[in-house]
Amino acid sequence: MSGILVVQEERGLGRNRFSQEALAAGRVIASLTGLPLETAVVGDKNTPILAETSGAPPSAAYAVEHPLLNIYTSDGYALAFEQLIRKLNPAYILLPHSYQVRDFVPRLAARFNQVLIGDVSAIESGPLFTCQLFQGKLNARYRHQGDGPCFISIQAGAFRPDLPAAGTTTIHPFVPDIAPEAIRTRPSEPFRAAAQTIDLGSAQLIVSVGRGIKEQENISLVQELATALGAELAASRPICDNGWLPMERQVGSSGQTVAPKLYLAVGISGAIQHLVGIKASQCIVAINKDPDAPIFEVADYGIVGDLMEVVPALTEEVKAAKQ
Ligand SMILES: Cc1cc2nc3c(=O)[nH]c(=O)nc-3n(C[C@H](O)[C@H](O)[C@H](O)COP(=O)(O)OP(=O)(O)OC[C@H]3O[C@@H](n4cnc5c(N)ncnc54)[C@H](O)[C@@H]3O)c2cc1C
Repeated sequence: MSGILVVQEERGLGRNRFSQEALAAGRVIASLTGLPLETAVVGDKNTPILAETSGAPPSAAYAVEHPLLNIYTSDGYALAFEQLIRKLNPAYILLPHSYQVRDFVPRLAARFNQVLIGDVSAIESGPLFTCQLFQGKLNARYRHQGDGPCFISIQAGAFRPDLPAAGTTTIHPFVPDIAPEAIRTRPSEPFRAAAQTIDLGSAQLIVSVGRGIKEQENISLVQELATALGAELAASRPICDNGWLPMERQVGSSGQTVAPKLYLAVGISGAIQHLVGIKASQCIVAINKDPDAPIFEVADYGIVGDLMEVVPALTEEVKAAKQ
């Protein structure tokens, strides 16, 4: 077995950050093992992410082309990548931990008598792969043993995409053999993650509100604090699911990933799907009435108290300090 294959996901939007993060993780394994890095994506040789790869370019890129792959199905993708993997024989296969990957990769791995090591948040010498268990309360470390390729999906936000580096990648077309009757699924509309018309990813200060706010009308309290600080307002998923704030303000695994200087979490418990979106923040401050809320495990500063009292007091202090 030779090499590391990073399977990127193309969403027709040019550079896909999660695929770039999977490539960054692939480079970590390459530096630990000395194995060459290759990449693949469903599309043709003009697929933008094959050309827009950041960091040291992979030695080869494979454009997996077939009309039956134009619409995603787990049958089609598992079959196509099974054939590519049998041809390349990579030791490690990395993918972003997306909904699509969670759908087809366990099946793909089973065809090689393997499992998917899912949602990997760190890679150390060994290589050892860290996954969080029980809503982030425990870290498990896995090592791949035995024959067969090792399948890994990479947690969103866990690896920073590298800066572009000089070099060239040779792009090869790969046409899998897929018979129409092999596609048994009839896909409906794909799941849409939160739209990203507001770029929280580049905000330096973010005040984020969670279900602890209780009523939509109370959000104005948190908005006032955000305005006083000159911060963007963001939210956990239930707030956006309720329609209290637009979907583009959602932070987390199915929303935006942020990396501000300050992330102030108000009435947010700290579920793993929220934490993956904020882990690159330089300073996390949490306000929560529950001293055991998981958000305090990642917070640099914590205020245990009722947000209805703490937030207005903080807003007044910020306003006073700015006068
Ligand atoms: C596939 C999938 C994807 C998901 N994607 C996301 C995502 O992108 N982003 C996301 O955020 N979630 C996501 N979730 C949901 C996630 O699992 C949690 O349900 C969600 O993050 C919880 O939001 P919350 O912290 O606002 O609410 P809760 O978990 O209900 O927490 C509310 C917190 O407010 C505190 N509180 C209550 N009253 C007060 C008060 N008066 N003063 C101070 N504190 C108070 C409570 O102690 C509690 O800790 C996803 C889930 C799934 C299954």
